[in-house]
Amino acid sequence: MNSFSYLRPGDVTSALQHIRTPGAKFIGGGSNLLDLMKGGIEQPVMLIDISHLPLSEISAQPGGGIRIGALARNSDVAAHPLVRRNYPLLAQALLAGASPQLRNMATVGGNLMQRTRCGYFYDTAFDACNKRLPGSGCAALAGRNRNHAIFGASEQCIAVNPSDMNVALTALDAVINVQGSHGRRSIAIADFHRLPGETPQHETNLAADEMILSVDLPPVPFDEYVYYLKVRDRASYAFALVSVAAALDLHLGRVTDVRIVMGGVAHKPWRATAAEAVLRGKILSATAVADAARVAIDGAQAYGQNDYKIELAQSAVERALLHAGDLS
Ligand SMILES: Cc1cc2nc3c(=O)[nH]c(=O)nc-3n(C[C@H](O)[C@H](O)[C@H](O)COP(=O)(O)OP(=O)(O)OC[C@H]3O[C@@H](n4cnc5c(N)ncnc54)[C@H](O)[C@@H]3O)c2cc1C
Repeated sequence: MNSFSYLRPGDVTSALQHIRTPGAKFIGGGSNLLDLMKGGIEQPVMLIDISHLPLSEISAQPGGGIRIGALARNSDVAAHPLVRRNYPLLAQALLAGASPQLRNMATVGGNLMQRTRCGYFYDTAFDACNKRLPGSGCAALAGRNRNHAIFGASEQCIAVNPSDMNVALTALDAVINVQGSHGRRSIAIADFHRLPGETPQHETNLAADEMILSVDLPPVPFDEYVYYLKVRDRASYAFALVSVAAALDLHLGRVTDVRIVMGGVAHKPWRATAAEAVLRGKILSATAVADAARVAIDGAQAYGQNDYKIELAQSAVERALLHAGDLS
């Protein structure tokens, strides 16, 4: 591991001043960053420990909805009464992620920013990883790509975003509130994570000098007919091969609103808007769900070892919707 300085600033203003130091990084729970540092993938010159700053509150907002502090731990968010009652999809997704010990450490900000789990990114013995060494190539394209993307990839990178939480946040129209040297701004979650394109080293649109302060969830009608389905190699503890956040708003059996978002299939949570359109306004039925699931995989492209993911994604979407709509 490289040598680095460690700071524990007393407030957000001071943390934001220090993050302007080139090579400085925030550390929340440390459950991703420390692994990356031990592997030599991340080499910060300064660690700014923000874990103790007062940004862990979860509160109801005046117009409805809730605000979740960026330093709220994943386990606390999943257990919070407001989350469980109004956003059960988020609680389900969080509880499907990692292990209890990790969820006790992991923060919301860190989860949003966690990096891909592509083996070539993690293993510095491989030279070809455009994400780690821009311009070096992508070993996964013709290599071990069983866990890799089937949507939105590029010739530069076929890695996926590994988060469960981000999939649910996308279904729930989350907004990320951030602050940097140019002040505060809010970023819709759909615009927060990036597709790899020509610059896979940039996974989010957060600027280097910005800190995530909180996440807002607007009032949404998805508090009853929801289901987070995670398909993985081990039920106890593994990243998603494919996951689906399915949310339905039903009125007398008719779908008045719907969200279908897939995880483990792209560089960012992948919202299946065309599949949603198939269901919107229809009476929910097994046939309508199967039609939507077929549309959800339109445009999917696999790379050999991950060919299975296309069929898996279709059946996962179908199963998640059937569960969400109490049809299974
Ligand atoms: C064995 C293992 C299994 C796991 N399984 C899963 C799983 O199944 N599903 C899943 O979703 N996740 C899983 N994870 C990942 C885990 O959820 C993340 O490591 C965790 O959410 C990261 O949060 P953290 O607070 O520890 O982040 P840190 O490691 O502290 O930081 C991660 C990144 O976020 C940045 N950062 C942190 N806070 C902020 C902020 N407020 N503003 C700006 N930048 C910030 C840091 O600079 C760093 O770049 C697993 C992790 C491990 C080690």
